[in-house]
Amino acid sequence: MNNFNFDLCQQLTAGMVEELCRRKAAADRLLNEIQRVAADAETFLQGQPENNRQLIDCGPGCGSCCIVNVAILFPEGLAIVRYLGGLKKASRQQIGDKLEELWRAVRGLDDEERMFLRRSCAFLDEQGSCQIYPVRPLLCRSISSTDADSCRQALVDQVFGMESAVLMHLFQQQLYETLFAGIGRGLEKAGLDGRSWPLSGLVRYLLKNSVAEGDLLAGRQLGWQEIYS
Ligand code: SF4
Repeated sequence: MNNFNFDLCQQLTAGMVEELCRRKAAADRLLNEIQRVAADAETFLQGQPENNRQLIDCGPGCGSCCIVNVAILFPEGLAIVRYLGGLKKASRQQIGDKLEELWRAVRGLDDEERMFLRRSCAFLDEQGSCQIYPVRPLLCRSISSTDADSCRQALVDQVFGMESAVLMHLFQQQLYETLFAGIGRGLEKAGLDGRSWPLSGLVRYLLKNSVAEGDLLAGRQLGWQEIYS
């Protein structure tokens, strides 16, 4: 894995996204391709036995790290909104309410303040599972821990101003961060909004603005006041 070319991976991802955007590919095509990029990364990671992924201790029921700020790109937000559209009305309503409440509590908080608050992500259910797992953000996928207990402890320590090491799968982290950066770059090169936005704030905004998808794909740049209002 040491010879994996992250720069090339980022360039190729950016090129693919830029081309799709410039060709004015339908939203479905762009969102599907971005999902495919994430799925290919997962398959790639699973197919690397020397990658020691069996050491990762994350799994359903452990949402301890789902109390941090998560950044997403607008196509990731659109994919989440579409996924939510396929859920039962009651679940959709419940998630929408949680998003509203959470965003009011966390908007404007920096990473430390957000963690200190210990408020779970609006997409985490009572069983500790991610309700948008198939379309979860790339940066959620980048996080891993080789020991769930030490991970939980580190989050507690953080509250008391202590720093504890958490052993992560660094290749996995770098791979997803590279894809995130590549997609953002590709969007920017095509003249679309390639900036990162807070997960809760952007999804809440997109849920309330049905015309935002078309506008964003046509090149409109989001304004901070729209998300933070
Ligand atoms: S989107 Fe899913 S994985 Fe990411 S923080 Fe929320 S619950 Fe956790």
